[in-house]
Amino acid sequence: MPQSAVLSPQHFPDWTQIDDVLLDMDGTLLDRHFDNFFFEEELPRRYATLHAIPFEEARDRLMTMYRSVEGELAWTDLDYWTKRVGLDVVAMHKELDHMIGFLPGAEEFLRHLRQLGKPVTIVTNAHSTGVSVKVAKTGLDRYVNRIVDAFEVGYLKMRPEYWPNCQRLLGFDPSRSLFMDDDEGCLMAAKAFGVAHLVHSAKSSSQLPPALLPQFLSIAGFAPLLNGRSPA
Ligand SMILES: [Mg+2]
Repeated sequence: MPQSAVLSPQHFPDWTQIDDVLLDMDGTLLDRHFDNFFFEEELPRRYATLHAIPFEEARDRLMTMYRSVEGELAWTDLDYWTKRVGLDVVAMHKELDHMIGFLPGAEEFLRHLRQLGKPVTIVTNAHSTGVSVKVAKTGLDRYVNRIVDAFEVGYLKMRPEYWPNCQRLLGFDPSRSLFMDDDEGCLMAAKAFGVAHLVHSAKSSSQLPPALLPQFLSIAGFAPLLNGRSPA
């Protein structure tokens, strides 16, 4: 390809321009149906039983609690929710682990990255306990160099403070890194920090239709990432 040629979508990503790959976990590699079901259906159901209140009231109360700490580490802290809600959220994760799984094509993409020789880091907002349950169920860790949860960094990914801290921890060059996430706020924060190659996971749940974002390369499956220009 001549140097002046515009890189077509068929040749994205240009792996010759990328040294590090940073990937979100839930909704990007793993099916977010588990998390959506857990926090929007199962936990409200158990909370309703605990307090002998209707499901709708339980769900409303929990949604108000979730919103009260949105964007803070507590939002994803399973130990925090166990205390606040009065139900063993970690044990419930393990009970329902049959619902945890990869999104279609995610493992093929991870194998492709390995073949390209790119270091892959999972950067997740999830709590280490939740990561452990998901790793035990999926074996996700065997595909990646490292898994960094938000508690190691000190902030969630949608916060501007996350990115310089994460960069110090991992040592990646933002101008030569690719970051993929299903959350718009996380992608916006990464963009503001200068991460050059951004991909939006539009199909975060097997049970929901794709939700495309116009301002990013927004994809509803991994196929567009498998045909990029490979390193020589
Ligand atoms: Mg996600």
